[in-house]
Amino acid sequence: MLSKTFRGGVHPADKKELAAGAETVRLEAKGELEFLMNQHIGAPAKPLVAVGDRVLLGQRIAEAGGFVSAGICCSCSGTVKAVSPMVTQTGDEAMAIVVENDSEYEAVEGYGEPRDYTKMSKEEIIKAVADAGIVGMGGAGFPTAVKLTVKDGVKIDHIICNAAECEPYITCDYRLMLERADDAVLGMKILLHVFPEAKGVFGVEDNKPLGIESLAKACEGSEKISVQPLKKKYPQGGERMLIYAVTKRKINSKMLPADAGCVVVNYSTLIAIAEAVAKNMPLTRRVVTVTGDCVKTPSNFDVPIGIKVSELIEAAGGFTVEPEEIIFGGPMMGAAVYTTDLPVTKTTSCVLCLSKDESKGCEPTECIRCGQCLYACPEHLMPIELKNSADRLDYDKFEKLGGLECIGCGCCTYICPAKRRLSQSITMMKRYVLAEKKKGAAK
Ligand code: SF4
Ligand code: SF4
Repeated sequence: MLSKTFRGGVHPADKKELAAGAETVRLEAKGELEFLMNQHIGAPAKPLVAVGDRVLLGQRIAEAGGFVSAGICCSCSGTVKAVSPMVTQTGDEAMAIVVENDSEYEAVEGYGEPRDYTKMSKEEIIKAVADAGIVGMGGAGFPTAVKLTVKDGVKIDHIICNAAECEPYITCDYRLMLERADDAVLGMKILLHVFPEAKGVFGVEDNKPLGIESLAKACEGSEKISVQPLKKKYPQGGERMLIYAVTKRKINSKMLPADAGCVVVNYSTLIAIAEAVAKNMPLTRRVVTVTGDCVKTPSNFDVPIGIKVSELIEAAGGFTVEPEEIIFGGPMMGAAVYTTDLPVTKTTSCVLCLSKDESKGCEPTECIRCGQCLYACPEHLMPIELKNSADRLDYDKFEKLGGLECIGCGCCTYICPAKRRLSQSITMMKRYVLAEKKKGAAK
């Protein structure tokens, strides 16, 4: 089958060879686990436990704090040590629940009991997804139950699984394609039960032929589910790019995927849906890639949410040299962190540890008007003009130039020979403009 794609984008070296061959290894936390209340988009979760409480594996320890929010379930059994604010990866403070792991893994009643999803209604399935605390695990963290709650009358004809994994270095979804393709197909069948008029498509970049093969085998006999190879190009996994590549439909910042008849779900999220609905197992674990040229043994670990990142680094053999930069996520859209003494969250797909040579830190110089950022932008924006308006704090010009359509993919920064920090300025300005609009609407 021919690979599909979108216009624009860049071709960074994918560096996936570092960890792609490393089978997923299951780790348990040695120390205490920390559960952040803001590990998703929307209102922070609200703690349901107090210091001294005994908690069980799979127990809901925090409830959703609003419609766009998600609850949190415990990934071990043990005792609540603290419910207090802690400094997060962004340097901000957020409420967290700290649990001392007793390593007994005593689970809540019903945990792991099989359920026949074909006998469940659409509402029951969406409730099971909400109860399990599932959010987009590719990095976005949007609550999945909200995504599945589409307005009456909206016809969904495509469930697209984002299995592109287009960010360099990250291999957690790739390993899951090789190791757990059946579970992902089960997750897709569950969503097709919710949206019976849709067909299911796994979009996979064509640099993962074994992943495509594995998924195609798991799809055999399921007429409504197929695998669509996609050209290896960043940001192929971006929601808008994926929808365009698969359906040729376009959406913008004012539209939802449902407006184009689509629901887009990340690959790890699909497996979490299968576990929650068919096995009554809430989201308490995820696979994290630990990689980069400073890591002794680049690895993929299946870990409990809340485990300290430092435990993952230790399990990967530690550092060969002290990293210049540690990034949660990939090099294009990930966030640099100041310490590994931070917990894994539902959205931690990768811990990337780069030396000075590999890290992109480099002094920017003057724009040479080469126009490369223009051709790389998948949203067909003018990144240099947007940066100029952002630097001048010219909100009107920024909006007129379409700055709110920026998806923060980082292609412009990556391609710029003058190393100008285009996407960083544009993303900050976009956040600022959106916050101002929100304030204005609230008045
Ligand atoms: S302007 Fe935004 S959407 Fe365009 S390349 Fe830069 S970061 Fe990506
Ligand atoms: S890619 Fe960099 S140097 Fe070239 S036009 Fe854009 S900002 Fe200027």
